[in-house]
Amino acid sequence: MKIDPLHSFLPNYKPGKPLIIAGPCSAESQEQVLKTAHALKEIPEVSVFRAGIWKPRTRPNNFEGLGEIALPWLKQVKEETGLLVTAEVATAKHVELCLKNGIDILWIGARTTANPFSVQEIADALKGTNIPVMIKNPINADLQLWIGAIERLSLAGITKLIAIHRGFSVGEKLEFRNDPLWRIPMELKMKFPDLPLICDPSHITGKRELIQKVCQKAMDLDMNGLIIETHPDPDKAWSDAAQQVTPEKLAEIISSLSLKKEDSHDKVFTNQLNDLRDQIDRLDNELIHTLKMRKNVVEKIAKAKIEQNVTALQRNRFDQLMKERMETGEKLGLNQEFIKEIFSTIHDQSVEVQTDLFEKSKK
Ligand code: PEP
Ligand code: MN
Repeated sequence: MKIDPLHSFLPNYKPGKPLIIAGPCSAESQEQVLKTAHALKEIPEVSVFRAGIWKPRTRPNNFEGLGEIALPWLKQVKEETGLLVTAEVATAKHVELCLKNGIDILWIGARTTANPFSVQEIADALKGTNIPVMIKNPINADLQLWIGAIERLSLAGITKLIAIHRGFSVGEKLEFRNDPLWRIPMELKMKFPDLPLICDPSHITGKRELIQKVCQKAMDLDMNGLIIETHPDPDKAWSDAAQQVTPEKLAEIISSLSLKKEDSHDKVFTNQLNDLRDQIDRLDNELIHTLKMRKNVVEKIAKAKIEQNVTALQRNRFDQLMKERMETGEKLGLNQEFIKEIFSTIHDQSVEVQTDLFEKSKK
C-alpha cells in the first residue's frame, strides 16, 4: 500500500510533533464555526479545523447536521485563518459537495467504515482526486473491517491516508463511551507502520474530564496526533455536548502533554535498553521451550486417553487448572485477564494437539 508521509500533504504539520485537529462536533451556525476557528487559530499546534456537516445519529429526530449550507463556512475558515478544513462524508453526494466547496481533507465516520458498500461508494467517488482521507475505526471491534476500508481507498488511488482510533462500541459501558481497546490500533500500527494513526479522545471518552488522560495515553503509544471536539460553549452544543471542550481548555490539554520520542541516541540509555532486550529475548526463548515441553506432555496424555477412550476436553480439569493459574498469577501481581487469556489459548492448543492425535489413531 502506498502511503504518503503527513508532512508531504499537510503544509503546516511539523514532523515529530502530534498533528492536532480541532473543531466542533457539528457546524451549528456561521458565527459558531468562525468563532471557534478564530480561537483555534491562536493555538499554534492546531493545524486542521474539523466540523460535522452531516451527522450520523443513532436515533432519528436528533439534530442531523445542517448539510450543504454549512460547507461555504468551512471555506471561509480556511480563507480567514489558514487552517486546513475537514468534514465527514458518508455518501458519494457528500464527496461531490465537499470537493466542490474546497474541503481539504475528508473523513469517514465509524458507522460508515463498518459498511463496505458505503466505503466502496466513497472510494469510487474519489477516484482520480488523491484528496487526503481519514478513516475512523468501525464501531465494532473488527480490525479487518478497518483495514478493508483503508484498502478500498488505497485501491481507489488515495495515498494520503490517516487512520483515526475512536474506540469501539462494546456491550458493557464502563469508564468510556467507546472502549479504546488499545490493542487494536496497535495491531494496525504494526501491520502498517507508515500509516499515520491519530486518536479521537472525544468519542472514546464521551466526557470532557477524561480527554486529557486519553490524549496522554495516545502520545505514550506513539500515535501521530489527536482530533479533539472543541466548541465555544460546549454545554450548549447541538451534538455531543458532554465531550466537547472550549478552545481555552484545548490549549491547556495540549500544553500539558508530555511527548515521548520514539528513539534516543543517548549511549547509557542505548546500552541499558540493549541489555534489557537481551533479557527479554532469553525469557521469550525459555517460554517457547517451555511450551514445547508442555506439548510433549500433552502428547503423552493424549496417548493415555486414546488407550482409555477418554475425551480430549475434560471440563472439570480445565476449570481447576484455570483457577489455580489465576491464583498463582494474582499472587505474583499479574493481570487476571491476561492470565485468563494466555491459559485459555494454551489450553485450546492442547485440546487441538490431542484431537489431532485422536484423528490419526483412527487411521
Ligand atoms: C464525529 O467525529 O463527530 C463522529 C460522528 O464520529 P464517529 O464516526 O467516530 O462516531
Ligand atoms: Mn461528535
